[in-house]
Amino acid sequence: MIPYGRQDITEADIKEVEGVLRSSYITQGPAIEAFEKKVAEHCSVESAVVVNSATSALHLCCLALGVEEGDIVWTSPNSFVASANAARYCGAAVDFVDIDVHTGNICVDVLATKLADSEKTGKLPKLLIVVHFAGQSCDMQAIKKLADRYRFKIIEDAAHAIGGSYQNKPIGSCKYSDATCFSFHPVKIITTGEGGAITSQNSDIIEKVSMLRTHGITRDVNSMHYSPDGRWYYEQHDLGYNYRMTDIQAALGLSQMDRLANYVTIRHALLERYRDTFKNYPLDILRQESYGRPSWHLCVVKLQLEHFKYSKAEICERLYEAGIGVNVHYIPIYLQPYYRNIGFQQGHCPEAEKYYQQALTLPLHPLLTQDEEDFIAAEVKKLLR
Ligand SMILES: *Cc1c(COP(=O)(O)O)cnc(C)c1O
Repeated sequence: MIPYGRQDITEADIKEVEGVLRSSYITQGPAIEAFEKKVAEHCSVESAVVVNSATSALHLCCLALGVEEGDIVWTSPNSFVASANAARYCGAAVDFVDIDVHTGNICVDVLATKLADSEKTGKLPKLLIVVHFAGQSCDMQAIKKLADRYRFKIIEDAAHAIGGSYQNKPIGSCKYSDATCFSFHPVKIITTGEGGAITSQNSDIIEKVSMLRTHGITRDVNSMHYSPDGRWYYEQHDLGYNYRMTDIQAALGLSQMDRLANYVTIRHALLERYRDTFKNYPLDILRQESYGRPSWHLCVVKLQLEHFKYSKAEICERLYEAGIGVNVHYIPIYLQPYYRNIGFQQGHCPEAEKYYQQALTLPLHPLLTQDEEDFIAAEVKKLLR
């Protein structure tokens, strides 16, 4: 089976991980700090905080921005459920901003209209979690303008997007947002097995998420509320979690960072080949906006189904039988039973639903060969009328 995405682990990665396993610290040791420094440098920010997943990263950022019961958080329906769940963990109400079907990202015009309407009803969001779908940045400058006008915070869910850029700045630089969250799950751009990271230009946010990832505990003598009665002393200031990454994972991430630029180059080359192959065929690859360079985490094609012999489900079955692990990103989040149970209904975001009918994710990862790509394209073309 050719998977839609997968990790690439080299001998160098294995050696780095082995080094940690043979050392004194397998968690909270020097690899964590080194990995954080590397991520921060890549994003041109002062500091990054690594955690055990992007889901945890999103949760901690919501907490650091003070999201709580009674607040409203908006996000994209075209995302993994974690983008919305993070706000729910904090007790906030969520709502979804419809997308532009050509990019899969939230539509800025829809956002502007929804904000104007919500201002009238007194239901403005406290926070917008934007999702850089398939690794392509949303139009952050335009969104920030709206954030200033309507006074909401912005978190970038960049689970797909490390290695991408917007206006010639790396995604994660947070020029137009309060914080950015990355994922290092094996299907994403680089991996730590499981893992995530937070970047921010706001030192209060960095401090807060660092503390919350380890139970809300501090060992910083300068911030103690009481005077320490010995060197064992620590204080818990807040109700935090154990969201820590291990040094074993950080060593893998650190080693993978060396190949980040190369991975993105390979992904672009493979995606452009797909674009060429399907140029005169009734399927449309996501549009690339001129304002940035995506990391191209996913190759999503929108099928013009009237030109195919089969339904999307059948197309998916046939490709699977041919050994091609296609997938779909994403089922609109609010159509999940959990979200229907809290009041969402079919039709809430018509564009996201239309997109979902057509979208199919073809394999795209750094180990995919051109021969495999040609095979995939040929198998897809066989299904046309
Ligand atoms: C994968 C993913 C997440 C969650 O990442 P984990 O590291 O698995 O917790 C969040 N948002 C999006 C858009 C994702 O694709």
